[in-house]
Amino acid sequence: MNCEVIKDLIPLYIDGCCSKESRKIVEEHIGSCKKCQQHFDDMSTAPDIIPVCEAPQKLNKINDWKASVLQSVLLFISFALITVGVAIEANTPLGLTNGLCALNLVVPVTGFMLSLTNWYFIRIYKSRKVFSNCSLFITLGITLCAYIWSFAHYELNLSDLFSEIDFIGFLDVMQGILFFYGIGFLLTLVFCVLSKILSAQYAKMLGKD
Ligand SMILES: [Zn+2]
Repeated sequence: MNCEVIKDLIPLYIDGCCSKESRKIVEEHIGSCKKCQQHFDDMSTAPDIIPVCEAPQKLNKINDWKASVLQSVLLFISFALITVGVAIEANTPLGLTNGLCALNLVVPVTGFMLSLTNWYFIRIYKSRKVFSNCSLFITLGITLCAYIWSFAHYELNLSDLFSEIDFIGFLDVMQGILFFYGIGFLLTLVFCVLSKILSAQYAKMLGKD
């Protein structure tokens, strides 16, 4: 093999962009040609090498596939949990407590599930960190909006709740809210953290910095 051809192939070899056959040709040649071996060593130790292409194509495809599986599995699980929440509401006697129990599961999961739509827009985000933080805030935002909607749905009125307010009354009201929404607060926290961690993982799989 001509040394000039090998010199052309060496940068591609170092960046991991050439085919198996070309790799073999380069390896065989530099094993027997001192001049090209030297050129190879100089190139591979040069500090300012900028890779011209990303990681090998095959690895990218596997990771794209994994990312799609992750997204689909999360969509499926969230939808299943919402179904469970709705079933709980349907199968228990009517009343405020019943509705709120189901709501405490359905609302945070819905916030999480809807925030997954943000994942389709991953390419517009500057970095993995910005993307995962936005996912967290979108989950939190949708969940809070849904809770506000639930206040209206169950005709809870904050100004009524706090109308005859003294300190003891305030504690009673807060205790009631914590009792009804406690699990919801906890699940909201859990799903916000999950949203951040999982979206960062998803971004990593797609090779986002
Ligand atoms: Zn040579």
